[in-house]
Amino acid sequence: MSLFHTLYDELIGFLGLNALLDMYHTGNYQSLLTLNGILGAVSPVLPFLLLIEITRAIVYKRFKIEDYRMPFLIFIINRVIGRFLSIAAIAFCIGVFEKYAIFKTTFTWYWLIYGYIIWEFGHFLYHYWGHRVRLFWCLHATHHMPQTMNLSVSYAHFFLEGAYADIIRTTVCILMGVNPPLLFFIMFIDGFWGGFIHVGENVLKNGRLGFLNKWILTPSHHRVHHAKNPLYMDTNFCNLLNIWDRVFGTYQHEDPKEPVQYGVTRNVNNRNFFDVYFGEFYYLALDVWKAPGILNKVRYIFMPPGWSHTGDHKTAVTVKRAYLESLKQTPSTTTQYEATTS
Ligand SMILES: [Zn+2]
Ligand SMILES: [Zn+2]
Repeated sequence: MSLFHTLYDELIGFLGLNALLDMYHTGNYQSLLTLNGILGAVSPVLPFLLLIEITRAIVYKRFKIEDYRMPFLIFIINRVIGRFLSIAAIAFCIGVFEKYAIFKTTFTWYWLIYGYIIWEFGHFLYHYWGHRVRLFWCLHATHHMPQTMNLSVSYAHFFLEGAYADIIRTTVCILMGVNPPLLFFIMFIDGFWGGFIHVGENVLKNGRLGFLNKWILTPSHHRVHHAKNPLYMDTNFCNLLNIWDRVFGTYQHEDPKEPVQYGVTRNVNNRNFFDVYFGEFYYLALDVWKAPGILNKVRYIFMPPGWSHTGDHKTAVTVKRAYLESLKQTPSTTTQYEATTS
């Protein structure tokens, strides 16, 4: 019986129904007027959208189990350890850094705007380094392995990535004076939007959200981020407000002439959990092992993915530069270019 109880609790937790069920059992619908009540009511939106996405895929005969199997397997593994590490990382950073905050904010709309801009900066840093430092890419790459886009991709993460992200984002926010209640509220919005931007073409065909595409980061922008096309690699690192991508020159809109090809540039066996989850660590270890001299070994760990001690780099920057050069020479071959390694 306890197994059924555990499965039931996990299902209710996954669907985000805890708060609504509590409300139903206690009859206290007044709590819908409080912030916690609103957050509780919004929680089931993404899981149900995911169910709609799967149902639509089945109805239109586009459902492929491979599109969902790996993200869900990873989700289950992360649920066991990943979330506890994230919570511990957040608590640790608040405890250590709160006394060094440059000033104190309160829970008001204008501090919310300030806090969100700061949060996005922390998010940009974690995400940028996740792509530009090989060791951190090992933590982040699992999220980029899926070769199609759907809401289950938002669950595909290496179990240490949450802690790595939250250490950077929380530290930046706390030092810049974002107070913890404000921070948790921002985290909630970020989590919701960060999940939603993975909505697949089955539910939202172009994902541009009309005029919003000009102002915020939409599913279309995040599809570009998940692409291995040379033009799209290492762009759109933000989550909701893409100001920092515009500031640092990593903003890229979806070009109708350049269809998104999802995934990473190395060949990945998406049916093999170890390749999806540990593959990047394996190839990093191999490069470090083979590299001549201690300096080159250290460089492999901290230089961008694709860096080579031979000077024959295949980083996102060099691949993109070569692609743009090739466009200048032969303007008609835009989509024929294929990068070979990450
Ligand atoms: Zn990324
Ligand atoms: Zn993503």
